[in-house]
Amino acid sequence: MPSYIIVTGGVMSGIGKGLLAASIGRLLKSCGYKVALTKIDPYVNTDAGTLSPFEHGEVFVLDDGGETDLDFGHYERFTNVSITKNHSITTGQVFGQVIENERKGEYLGKTIQIIPHVTGEIKKRLRENAKDVDFLIAEIGGTVGDIEGITFMEAVRQLKKEDKVVNVHLTFLPLTGIDQKTKPTQHSVIEMRRMGVSPDLVVGRCSNRLTENTKRKISLFCSVEEEEVISDPDLSNIYELPLALRDEGVHRIIQKKLGMKVKEPELGEWQKFVDNYGKGPEVVVGIVGKYARGDTYLSIQEAIAHAGVATRVKPVIKWIDCEEVEKNPGCIGKIDCMITPGGFGNRGAEGKIIGIRQARTHKIPWLGLCFGFQLAVVEFARNELGLKQANSTELDPTTPDPVIIPHWEARHDIMEGTMRLGSMKVVLEEDSRMSKIYGQTVVHERHRHRYGLNPKYGESLQQKGLIFTGACPEDQTIETLELPDQFFIGVQFHPELKSRPTRPHPLFVGLLKAARARQQA
Ligand code: GLN
Repeated sequence: MPSYIIVTGGVMSGIGKGLLAASIGRLLKSCGYKVALTKIDPYVNTDAGTLSPFEHGEVFVLDDGGETDLDFGHYERFTNVSITKNHSITTGQVFGQVIENERKGEYLGKTIQIIPHVTGEIKKRLRENAKDVDFLIAEIGGTVGDIEGITFMEAVRQLKKEDKVVNVHLTFLPLTGIDQKTKPTQHSVIEMRRMGVSPDLVVGRCSNRLTENTKRKISLFCSVEEEEVISDPDLSNIYELPLALRDEGVHRIIQKKLGMKVKEPELGEWQKFVDNYGKGPEVVVGIVGKYARGDTYLSIQEAIAHAGVATRVKPVIKWIDCEEVEKNPGCIGKIDCMITPGGFGNRGAEGKIIGIRQARTHKIPWLGLCFGFQLAVVEFARNELGLKQANSTELDPTTPDPVIIPHWEARHDIMEGTMRLGSMKVVLEEDSRMSKIYGQTVVHERHRHRYGLNPKYGESLQQKGLIFTGACPEDQTIETLELPDQFFIGVQFHPELKSRPTRPHPLFVGLLKAARARQQA
């Protein structure tokens, strides 16, 4: 029978609940257990696909095309598990399902209520997610006490009664001078108890480690043992958290509480990764993108960090605002390599194109992701084919040279407007730089786009030297481009979504290697 770890948050959001859930996942997996992670998002949207990345951070795409939020990125990176979209549960989905069931007459004339029907639907989804694993770790978004979360807390209360559940409650301890203030924690635990749920472990997020005195106080006020109060201090990088939790004995406490025989984690490889993190000569990676908040390109940042460890360099990201580049191309300054990330719409697109041109003409190692691939085609068409007004029809619907067009215009079996989503097979040409970097010719990568190369321009672009070396055999979409004599690579997919700490993505490793080689040349 599976056990459930329910991760809740108190005091305020944004203190690292997703990382905590992911780290517990890593820790238990390293003990030899099969784990899965679920996120419950109390918002009414059906999924994260329609949320603005500038409000909510990046959209993380799963293999099966699920559009989720960045916490799923943490989950996959920390646990190496490929998550399916039914592990993202939102208010919108749950109510949508209950209403659909009611219309189908599945409740046999009963009055449909929050308890038991809505809470029943929540528990049903959690149990389905837990079916094949030892542990389901389910994070509840938001903060205990939010109106939106109440139904989910009620479902947790019921689940605790019926199944094997450990509740891990993450709270925040503000500092006044050197005093770690426990009052907000006390209040958030009181709030939880009001809903019938008592925490089993209290994790205190604070810049310092919790003192003995703080632990004693939390233990007394929150009815947990002192050893069940866990420090979550500032760490030099996020990947240290599973090690910190291990040092506090979290895996032991969880297993003991569930009456399991205690197993110790095997974290050797993880430790090695952490030891080498951010070490080596600095390599400046310029990312030319749109910035409104720090986590819009989170997976790219992480992929760079993983590749840095693998190549023994210390990547330093230089954030370059593409709207700034439009006004002043010189602001790109000195960089060792460049990434043009994914994106949508006109704003800043010309700045990204200026950046790509600089990278191409100055032979700065360059990696273009999705929108980056498309804009490289535009740049090359304009400056090498002399098609001065070439563009993507996403940016200029009336361009005389639509080098990038909606993918449903290039084929006829797809409904207009459909996003091409999720993992797809990509076959690479035998002798291409791409297949050498990957070390294979068949790969699977994740997608999230509506536009793609207009096949009519393929031939003339190739004649001028921009070669297309990879395609999807299922729908013939052109997936990769490269230049023969420099590291200039564009991909129609998002390799950053598949990079893992101990399994860095070859394209990011290739980029950093090329950057380092250029530095040394
Ligand atoms: N806007 C482009 C498209 O829809 C690129 C999308 C992306 O970069 N994810 O195809």
